[in-house]
Amino acid sequence: RIITSYSDAEDNINVVVRVRPLSKKEIKSGDDSVVQFPGNGQVLVDGIPGGPSGGQKPKLFSYNVVFEPAATQEDVLQFSGMKRLIEMAVEGFRCTCFCYGQTGSGKTHTLTGPPGLVIDLLNPGSARKPLAVRWSKKARGFFVENLFTVDCEEFDDLMAVLEEGMRNRSVGRHNMNDYSSRSHTILCVHITSEEPAEGGVFISRTGKINFVDLAGSEMTKKTQSEGKTLEEANNINKSLMVLGYCISSLSDSKKKPTHIPYRDSKLTKLLADSLAGNGVTLMIACISPARSNISETLNTLRYAARAK
Ligand code: ADP
Ligand code: MG
Repeated sequence: RIITSYSDAEDNINVVVRVRPLSKKEIKSGDDSVVQFPGNGQVLVDGIPGGPSGGQKPKLFSYNVVFEPAATQEDVLQFSGMKRLIEMAVEGFRCTCFCYGQTGSGKTHTLTGPPGLVIDLLNPGSARKPLAVRWSKKARGFFVENLFTVDCEEFDDLMAVLEEGMRNRSVGRHNMNDYSSRSHTILCVHITSEEPAEGGVFISRTGKINFVDLAGSEMTKKTQSEGKTLEEANNINKSLMVLGYCISSLSDSKKKPTHIPYRDSKLTKLLADSLAGNGVTLMIACISPARSNISETLNTLRYAARAK
């Protein structure tokens, strides 16, 4: 059994968990898995240190879908609700898929999605200058000023754009220490589709999907440095916190009207239109099964459980 699900991914906000396999390095160093799979979209974490008797009770969490370490990319595409996201974007909705988790938990592996938010990865000449996030009536929301966009006719064109962004991203990583884990990366795909209708006219629809590879969620604690790095870390941490608030407020707002604090971070400003609209949001929480990562794993599972 590789995948278990608690409910079909039919909500506006779906939260799935993907557990990566133990790495060779972890196995070599004698690290073991603390994550178990009772079924029904549940994840159980056993072996939590602390407590009066030296250990705490196991903790149980549940989600829409859980992907065990043996699950493949294809499984994630098939069963995470990602397909529905794509279908809805083709129908003209705005959707968001984001991966959350500590550095090394498998976010990029799951998403393999690049181009840029703060820094424009498709136009690296402009690269060291952050781009401004502004609001416009015409764009009907927040947008990144001067962001490079590329028209793609074919799927291969999109892949080439993606690869270029990935290359630029790894250059960035080379220049700034551990760049990719300290930044959010968004690939925003606008999809225009045309459907023939009566009388020889075409109905045109424009939807979009944001693929968001979030910065490592462990940031603040591990980045105990001073100056700019700390400021950066605080910003990242704040945006992840605000994103968490927005998502859980959105879940609550189905029951009663709730204020959603989109304006509190650049990240949520940019995602606001797709989070707020009639589209769907998919959160993929990525975790490591290793004992050595247990506290970050619990943080991620709690964050993801709150989002549901
Ligand atoms: P993150 O983007 O969260 O920092 P990565 O996606 O870079 O993490 O994954 C860290 C390492 O683990 C990479 O070497 C990646 O190939 C490997 N990895 C992650 N998820 C899986 C998986 N589901 N199966 C196999 N290897 C994985
Ligand atoms: Mg990554």
